[in-house]
Amino acid sequence: MQTIYYDLRDTKGQQKRIEDNISAAAKILREGGLVAIPTETVYGLGANGLDPKAVNRIFEAKGRPQDNPLILHVTGPQWLPRYCADIPPIAYVLARKFWPGPLTMILKRKSIVPDETTAGLDTVGVRCPNHPVTLSIIREAGIPIAAPSANTSGRPSCTTAQDVLEDMNGKIDGVVDGGPCTVGVESTILDLTCEPPRLLRPGGLPMEDLERLIGHIDVDKAITGTLAEGEKPKAPGMKYRHYAPKAPVTVVTGAPAASAAEIARRVSAASGVICFDEYAHLFKGQEVHTLGPSADKQTQAQRVFDALRSFDESGVTEIYAQCPDNRGLGLAIGNRLKKAAGFHVVQADSQRIILGLTGCTGAGKTSALRAIQALGGEIIDCDAVYHEMLEQSEDLRNAINEKFPGVFSEDGSLNHRKLGEEVFAKKDRLAQLNDIVFRFLVPEVERRVGRLPDGLYAIDAINLLESGLNRLCDRTVAVTAPVELRVRRIMARDNITEQYARLRISAQKSDEYYRSKCDCELTNAADTPEEFRKEAELYFRRLIEGVEEEKRHGAASRQNG
Ligand code: AMP
Ligand code: MG
Repeated sequence: MQTIYYDLRDTKGQQKRIEDNISAAAKILREGGLVAIPTETVYGLGANGLDPKAVNRIFEAKGRPQDNPLILHVTGPQWLPRYCADIPPIAYVLARKFWPGPLTMILKRKSIVPDETTAGLDTVGVRCPNHPVTLSIIREAGIPIAAPSANTSGRPSCTTAQDVLEDMNGKIDGVVDGGPCTVGVESTILDLTCEPPRLLRPGGLPMEDLERLIGHIDVDKAITGTLAEGEKPKAPGMKYRHYAPKAPVTVVTGAPAASAAEIARRVSAASGVICFDEYAHLFKGQEVHTLGPSADKQTQAQRVFDALRSFDESGVTEIYAQCPDNRGLGLAIGNRLKKAAGFHVVQADSQRIILGLTGCTGAGKTSALRAIQALGGEIIDCDAVYHEMLEQSEDLRNAINEKFPGVFSEDGSLNHRKLGEEVFAKKDRLAQLNDIVFRFLVPEVERRVGRLPDGLYAIDAINLLESGLNRLCDRTVAVTAPVELRVRRIMARDNITEQYARLRISAQKSDEYYRSKCDCELTNAADTPEEFRKEAELYFRRLIEGVEEEKRHGAASRQNG
């Protein structure tokens, strides 16, 4: 087989070769051959989607069940009317916004699309991939490319050309190497032949992004593994055990700290572990593949298949996997892990709910905390924990004293004013202090949280996100408010001038910072604190219901799919 080389990272002076390679790939495809092609999601195994013989070769090479249809890859919405009938306007709205990108739309097919491609269905999946090389190949070939993921059926999908060679060497005509896939999980599949549209497979485009544009969408039961015996999923591919390494997989859901602790309780020397970076140190005796930081779902998506593949060369007899929550890309990542586990899912920490609150000064974090107390919640005041530790921990005092000599008085108490002057307006000194405080505070809070009885808790920490305390939370909430309101509130609260209030606000992080880093947002535009407290109570009641629902149903909940 021929390897058609193309490396996005090395294009200088190579224009001619790239063009030759694109032409070569297009030619093979036009003549009925099979070429693996790079996309932003995973590598695809491409063939002419209008040629039944070529399409049949895909099924042979992959060992793919005949009833599992293929997705047609096109260069833009202008190709839709060639292959699809009764196209609803919303298809164009979606294509304009999300193509090229990880969204596959299911539409009525035209008869030009052969049964082999659609596995006999009267619908067809269509997508425009976001990879310049593959777009050029399709454009040059002038045909829609049918391409399932380029792995052997049942194995984890391929996210590098090397993975493709591992599975397909000798079975296909070429591989186009376009570098590692940037998204890492397959496309999101949305069925537009029903009302409301239905999510058939979570993927690289988060469901929230779709709902923001087109409103509510239904979620197919196959995603959550709750199909009844004999029930058929609408995307036939969803019924197969998938992505599976050779050893059996157990997925553990729950807040990252809790799921890591649960796995640590279960592992033996022969266990493999897939975990977030922060918890790798718990598994020194095991073979570990990390997914990336717990807060970085993009990295987790990029690595999930590689992690699943990696165990096949080792002798592990079982694999435990930490699972991200289901928001954003988490739904797709969790779905791939759970499918690899045959939906064998364990739920860590089921009865304790921990919310983390953060936000700018004047936004209303204190009122929001009051609202949580009104709902029976208990506040974990990290500032208080820090002050307790200052009294009790010799190690903490020594660490501070070493970097900030002279800030302790003779009686051993910390001179907060002196330390404040030292770090105020000196960014690097503040960072040094924070490093020390976080290093001591986070494990202490983690330890305390671990011993809490069932119930509702809120972590009150100025540096919730920066310290890593957000990892302990079921949900992090950004409390935000319009700047003008915040100016007026802190003027009144702290009895300061408008100019000084603005100065203080501009020295802080913006609402946008908190909004982009937290799981959810509570906006305080209310006229009075009482009004806001009421709104906040309602908000938290709903939020808590959502978390409870998720915990109750574990693997079975739609969200946890
Ligand atoms: P793969 O390309 O390996 O990611 O698999 C394609 C996925 O798209 C499978 O889960 C198929 O079942 C699904 N699919 C493709 N065409 C259709 C269709 N017309 N209706 C429903 N699902 C589809
Ligand atoms: Mg596949």
